Amino acid sequence: RATASQELVAAAERYTARTYSPLEVVVARAHGATLTDVEGHEYLDFLAGYSALNFGHGHPAVLAAARAQLERVTLTSRAVHNDQLGPFARELCELLGQDMMLPMNTGAEAVESAIKVARKWGYERKGVAPGRARIVVAAGNFHGRTTTVVSFSDDDDAHRNYGPYTPGFDTVPFGDLAALEAALTEDTVAVLLEPIQGEAGVIVPPPGYLAGVRRCTAERGVLLVADEIQSGLGRTGRTLACDHEGVEADLYLLGKALGGGVLPVSAVVGRAEVLSVLRPGQHGSTFGGNPLAGAVGRAVVGLLATGEPQRAARERGERLHAGLAELAPLGLTAVRGRGLWAGIDIDPRLGTGRECCERLVAHGVIAKDTHGATVRLSPPLVITEEELERGLAALGAVLRGM
Ligand code: PLP
Repeated sequence: RATASQELVAAAERYTARTYSPLEVVVARAHGATLTDVEGHEYLDFLAGYSALNFGHGHPAVLAAARAQLERVTLTSRAVHNDQLGPFARELCELLGQDMMLPMNTGAEAVESAIKVARKWGYERKGVAPGRARIVVAAGNFHGRTTTVVSFSDDDDAHRNYGPYTPGFDTVPFGDLAALEAALTEDTVAVLLEPIQGEAGVIVPPPGYLAGVRRCTAERGVLLVADEIQSGLGRTGRTLACDHEGVEADLYLLGKALGGGVLPVSAVVGRAEVLSVLRPGQHGSTFGGNPLAGAVGRAVVGLLATGEPQRAARERGERLHAGLAELAPLGLTAVRGRGLWAGIDIDPRLGTGRECCERLVAHGVIAKDTHGATVRLSPPLVITEEELERGLAALGAVLRGM
């Protein structure tokens, strides 16, 4: 590694808490699906910031909106109104066919907010006895890193030694409708699910599962909360992953790509009957709903309203999955996913997911491993055909060399 990179890596390792083990690439610039390191080497971005960069690095419409807003006003707090939040909320609700939204910043905050809303709704609308509300979650979930959220994580690293834990969660196997149905009680206020589990390795549930969850939650007066923070906003080829099964959740959690890769923007979007349980003073955020976030969010909604990112995800996704099927005999034990999103399992006889990602770096491609054997592929939806082919060819070369 050249000196400039070495020094920068050393500084990051010396002065930041070691919560990540990054690939040894120091990015200095990026555009579209291309990252450039401090030495000027280029890499194809096959991660897109865990889907926070669905529209690519430096999308002109997103940057233009951000730049224009930077010059006007960036932060007001909710003590006064600003001229971006109302239009952003309306445009997002119109895109999703929903009634209202709650603006937050990070994904985990959106999840926390939805948990609070679901519990409050349970006590005030469903009539659950005080302190008894329960929420059903799926094994293998990833909803963020806050104390309540890691309380119901079954990932040992995410969970261990962060107790005492928040009670009130019941875990069922992901994709098992009978188990989920059996877990619903009169105290259940919500089922919280990722329609496709991202961090778990891009796990797509069996066909009909989400529709079944929707049916039984509706029958039992239980809210369905869909965490679309990673799966939503075009990634799977539809605006929301739930759309593939024609399922409408009561609350949708959005984040990552909602901020256009520029700043953290998240939201809880859903029905007025549910979100209206929140009254002034009962929830909030200094930065949530700020005008810069609103302007960027509006640019993102504008892109999605054209249908173009979704179409690109479907077309490129078809090629990605066809390409992965061709590469599978070289040492993939599983290929999963939907749209421009895949989880591939590397045959342990070849090596680990991490080793595969390190070799991909040497071939000019950035992707990230998860849970040992899995490599996640989620390029920006703006990736060109030629770039996608180059990435697949690099993966082929890596698998042949492992
Ligand atoms: N929910 C899902 C499905 C996620 O994939 C993530 C992040 O990876 C989160 C929530 C948490 O988002 P954030 O890291 O912005 O808090």
